[in-house]
Amino acid sequence: MLKKLLKELINAQSTLECGELGTAELLKRFLEQHDISAEIDVWDENRANITATIKGDGSRDSLFFACHSDVVPAGDAKWQSQPFLADERDGRIYGRGSCDMKGGLAAVAVAAVQLKNSGVKFKGDLIICSTAGEETTGLGAKRFTARQKDSLPKLAGIIIPEPTDFKIVNFHRGICWLKLTTKGKTAHGSVPHLGINAITSMNTLLNRLNSYKFPDVKTAFSDASTMSINQISGGKATNVVPDSCSIKIDIRMAAGVTCERVVDDINEICAELKSQTPNFDAELEIIRTVPTLETEPACSFIKKVSDIAEIDEVSSINFSTDGPYFKELNAPVIVFGPGKTELAHQPDEYIDITDINKAVAVYTKIIEDFVV
Ligand SMILES: [Zn+2]
Repeated sequence: MLKKLLKELINAQSTLECGELGTAELLKRFLEQHDISAEIDVWDENRANITATIKGDGSRDSLFFACHSDVVPAGDAKWQSQPFLADERDGRIYGRGSCDMKGGLAAVAVAAVQLKNSGVKFKGDLIICSTAGEETTGLGAKRFTARQKDSLPKLAGIIIPEPTDFKIVNFHRGICWLKLTTKGKTAHGSVPHLGINAITSMNTLLNRLNSYKFPDVKTAFSDASTMSINQISGGKATNVVPDSCSIKIDIRMAAGVTCERVVDDINEICAELKSQTPNFDAELEIIRTVPTLETEPACSFIKKVSDIAEIDEVSSINFSTDGPYFKELNAPVIVFGPGKTELAHQPDEYIDITDINKAVAVYTKIIEDFVV
């Protein structure tokens, strides 16, 4: 059941281009065959969130698994097998999304179905959602929390089955993606003094950004903030003074550092450069922000999951998840799932079959402990 479901989920090709509706419909059919009701929320034709619930009798708090249905594109590198035709070989299932995170999604769905089929009585609700657009803007998770926040039962905790190789993750840094554009005045390249060179202005700004120090906020989480300038474009021709130059910056924020604070700092830098150099002019645009995930490691939810899974330490990850959006549901959030983090988004992405089986077993124990 598990391998078949995972293969079908991979074959459903839920890239940004194709949308998540196919994956959501497939999952709904699978769950409904086993008497688990599921609802699909569709928008923009093919974007979709799916939420499945096994109702409890209300005598215990509920448990929430927050998955995502979308996958990144296959990429340009050559795969050994078709990225969107799941291939089982060497004890692994290969295909885009196998690891990030249809393996975890299939494992949760199968754990729920097996428990439902076993006839046990649920005391708290088991809620499983799989949202759209985690790999791009997190729009599915934002939409889910905005719509469901007031109607969900009290949650004991939230588990995100992303590939952490069974590490219990309580922290990841936040994201702040910025675009900075310097403005100038165009002129013929033979008379540069008649123009204002936007690339020269950008050079001034880049030099200043190189010495930028992030706010030093003391918290229990040690991962430091980083800034990486990853794209630059400017200029039209060798003989034209450029009037515009842009960079895109990937900032990852440590605990306690907010996007607002970093944006304020960079705006201040730009204002300072403008006061020193009258020709300097720059604009800042926020492309994307995701807050940090910071779940108190000593909270009872983490303690209990650690006991059940027999894992006695919590970890952080370098990548970001939809976790911070689910903080709005007022329950502790952890990331915990099968699959090696480093295989996500790679060509020849795979998941070990032993890992998805292990995930079914550990999710089953967790569900039993919290809501049965
Ligand atoms: Zn993922």
